[in-house]
Amino acid sequence: MKQQKLLYTGKAKSVFRTDVKGTLIVEFRDDITAFDGGKKDVLRNKGSYNAGVSAFFFGFLEMHGIKTHFIRMIDGNRMAVRELAMIPLEVIVRNLAAGSVVRTYPFTKGMTFNPPVIVIDYKDDSRHDPMLNDDLIVALGLVTPRELKRIKAIALKVNELLSELLAARGITLVDFKIEFGRRGKSICLGDEISMDSMRLWDKKTGESLDKDVYRFDMGDVMATYNRVAARIAGPETGEAHAKKTADVRSTKP
Ligand code: C5P
Repeated sequence: MKQQKLLYTGKAKSVFRTDVKGTLIVEFRDDITAFDGGKKDVLRNKGSYNAGVSAFFFGFLEMHGIKTHFIRMIDGNRMAVRELAMIPLEVIVRNLAAGSVVRTYPFTKGMTFNPPVIVIDYKDDSRHDPMLNDDLIVALGLVTPRELKRIKAIALKVNELLSELLAARGITLVDFKIEFGRRGKSICLGDEISMDSMRLWDKKTGESLDKDVYRFDMGDVMATYNRVAARIAGPETGEAHAKKTADVRSTKP
C-alpha cells in the first residue's frame, strides 16, 4: 500500500490518502498541544506511544464487538484505517470528576459519577469546541436522534470495557474522549484512544498517567507515556517500540 496525498493535518495527527480505495493512513506525530493549542511542544517518540496504545485499544474493542476504523499498524507511528465520514462531535465519558467539569461546575475533584456522565462537545476549534445538548446536536443536523442514542450506547460500552481492562493493570479510567464516523450505515469509532485523550490515575498512588502531566508540568511527560504504554499494551509498546520507530525513521530517505 502506498501513502499518497495529505488529506488533513490536526494538532497531533496527519491523515493521508492511499492507493487502496477506502483505506487511509493516520500518522501519529510527536506534536503535543494543550489549552486549545495555547501550549505546544514536540516530544520525541510521543507519536509512537500513542499509536501503540490506540492500536491496542482498538484491537481489544474490535474483539468485543465494537466497530472501529483500525486495520493494522504500518510502522511505529502510522496506522492503516478504514475511511469514515467523521461526525464533528467529541464524546466524553466521565467516571470521576476532573478537568473542565470541576472548573465549570461545583463538583469536587475525584468525586465518582455513578452512572458515568456523558458530555458531548461540538468539534470546532474556531468556536473552542462548545458543549452541546441532545436538542442542539439534532438541530444542527449532526446526527439523528437514533444515531445519538447509538453513539451514547457505544460510548458507555467502550467505557465499561476499557475501565475493566485498565483496572486489571492498576489504573483508574477517570475520563476519555472518543470520536465517531459513518461507514455506510454503520457508526464506527475513529480518531485515537491514547494518553492524549484519556485521564488515567494510578490506583495506588493517584499519580496522573496522561496528558495532565504535560498540561500542568507535573513531571517527565515521555517517561510517563513510556511507562503507561508498556503497562497498558505490554513492553513492546514502551521503549522497545519507540526505539524501533526511531530506527525506521533514521533509515527513511
Ligand atoms: O478538558 P476536559 O476535562 O473536558 O477533558 C475530558 C477528557 O477528554 C480528558 O481525558 C481529555 O484529555 C479529553 N479531551 C480530548 N480532546 C479534547 C477535549 C478533551 O481528548 N479536545
